[in-house]
Amino acid sequence: MTIGIVGAGQLGRMLALAGYPLGLDFLFLDRSTDVPAARLAPMLVGEFTDRALLRRLAKRCEVLSFDWENISVDSLRAATRGLRTRISPPLRALGTGQDRLAEKRLFERLRIPTTRYAAVSSLAALQAACERIGMPGVLKTRRLGYDGKGQAVIRKRADIVAAWDALGDVPLLYEEFIDFDLEVSAIGVRARDGREAHYPLTRNWHDGGILRLSIAPWNSPALAALARRHLRAVLRDFRYVGTLAIEFFARDGRLIANELAPRVHNSGHWTIEGAVTSQFENHLRAIAGLPLGSTAAVGHAAMINLIGRMPGIDSVLSQPGVHLHDYGKQPRPGRKLGHCTLVSATADDRNRRTRSLLRHLAVSLAGAP
Ligand code: AMP
Repeated sequence: MTIGIVGAGQLGRMLALAGYPLGLDFLFLDRSTDVPAARLAPMLVGEFTDRALLRRLAKRCEVLSFDWENISVDSLRAATRGLRTRISPPLRALGTGQDRLAEKRLFERLRIPTTRYAAVSSLAALQAACERIGMPGVLKTRRLGYDGKGQAVIRKRADIVAAWDALGDVPLLYEEFIDFDLEVSAIGVRARDGREAHYPLTRNWHDGGILRLSIAPWNSPALAALARRHLRAVLRDFRYVGTLAIEFFARDGRLIANELAPRVHNSGHWTIEGAVTSQFENHLRAIAGLPLGSTAAVGHAAMINLIGRMPGIDSVLSQPGVHLHDYGKQPRPGRKLGHCTLVSATADDRNRRTRSLLRHLAVSLAGAP
């Protein structure tokens, strides 16, 4: 079976790495061949909106998926019209995941607590939103924001105009700033027959809006139960097929949904070594109509993102039991170039080794375990 993937970044690359042992083949579409998945699988090169190219991709695969969410829903739908090619995850989930306002509305409809917010399309509307919701708050582009890009924190009235000038030429959303205790993500997978499997709760640390560290399982039965309930509601509402992640802020024992990703997620990379079946393999199993694998953790895992600069391979591999994933990307400030993972028998040992690895990599992270 051939899986067509729109987008050939590191997520696509890790999908292919997980899929080859299952006998799956891959065909990617991306704007250039200088992308992480290009070394692994054949590629079609062109714009994501090129319907003729998307159609060529759709004709050559049984299932069409994507490795980032900013692909035109209409173009994908048009590309598969009249073909037997299935699109997974569903286009409604894709459409929701590309617009922060649609995400908020989904969370509200499913009674999943989220930040107080207002859609904003003028300076006057932003000023009104800041008064109504209060400051500090975060102004975010509704679309195309990731890794903290397209965001400005507004702490006081005097910040409003600068934030508007920085972001104001596209539709925006202003939301309250959450003084969270911690951030967690819930990752789950749903099969075509409706069966679901959820990974253990993951705790995340961001730096400058970019994920830096994830550890799992995060041992909080109460938060894990809440996260499971919210994840299940979203998966069922979409009649979802594939892997999906929801990021939450946790404050005073409550979860506040931040955003969702209708795809495999960076905070789930630990599952490659740290779970019986990785999020990548389970995504493929789901979209290919195969039975899901166990999502149980095989130990206590930590995943550290390698950002901006790749450490020497020797330097990482000299650390006992540390696994390296190099995405083969050119270094650039703020760019995710790879990650490394370790798995321990106990949480204490995992935390000790994580501290030591962070030191070794010269990463300082406030509040890390
Ligand atoms: P996002 O792109 O929305 O996932 O934001 C990236 C990171 O910025 C989050 O994981 C948080 O660490 C931080 N952040 C975003 N929105 C808020 C908020 N409303 N309150 C506090 N921190 C936020």
